[in-house]
Amino acid sequence: MPDTLADTRYELAVANRILGHEGVLDAFGHVSLRHPGDPGRYLLPRSRSPELIEPADILEFTLDSAPVVPPTVQLYSERVIHGEIYKARPDVMAVCHHHSPAVMPFCITGEPLVPVFHLGATIGAEVPFWDSLDEFGDTNLLVVKPEEGASLARALGRHSVVLMRRHGATVVGADLRELVFRSIFSCLNAVYLSEGRKMGRVGPLTPGEIEMAGAINKIPSVPLRTWEYWATRLAKRGGMPPRPAATAAARKGSSSGPRPRAQAARSGSRKAKSKRSRQR
Ligand code: MN
Repeated sequence: MPDTLADTRYELAVANRILGHEGVLDAFGHVSLRHPGDPGRYLLPRSRSPELIEPADILEFTLDSAPVVPPTVQLYSERVIHGEIYKARPDVMAVCHHHSPAVMPFCITGEPLVPVFHLGATIGAEVPFWDSLDEFGDTNLLVVKPEEGASLARALGRHSVVLMRRHGATVVGADLRELVFRSIFSCLNAVYLSEGRKMGRVGPLTPGEIEMAGAINKIPSVPLRTWEYWATRLAKRGGMPPRPAATAAARKGSSSGPRPRAQAARSGSRKAKSKRSRQR
């Protein structure tokens, strides 16, 4: 788990990129994390495609979705989705909103998204369906007003995923790794349900199966193992985010005397460190 806010921003950037790489997010969609040191704030990138997010893109917001520092960059217009869910659900630490092709047929038809295989149990027994027409009539379908976000949060209720009519889905998690796990396997579950129906009848898991398989998915080693797998796939493709320019090592290097070049300072401190560890 991250030690510092810088590490947390890096993890959130990785989560954004994993969900882009695995096909949950494309040019649109976003991932946020409740601030680890202040439950009244959350961290969300500036308006940018998730697979491009860097730690420096990540900004702090109040739960009213106001930026804590006046922004000089474009913000996601749908950030109230995140703020209103964090307000309504103190147990939620991470939120992903997406328009994945896997779930869109369910958002368009209103057919229930039910868990149909063991890992799909992560969506729970029921995935509610939010229809913006009910309270707001004709809109451009984006969730941009606080009252729209609050309405979506009410529809989500105590569940883990909510479908949004003709728009997409919003997924919540107790931490970033559970969120990534649930976002990816809810999309795979949607694919298997759609594909299975082309071959024959498909019903949900039994309530007992949903509970028991869902419990396995919550064992900490499970989201750890999947995170390592997805992060390694991303790294192999060269897609990991850059580390922030002013790393702790570089700052230490600059305080220990004049160095002609940053690169020399970094390799020097690495050598010194490995020498120290050999001496122990
Ligand atoms: Mn959207």
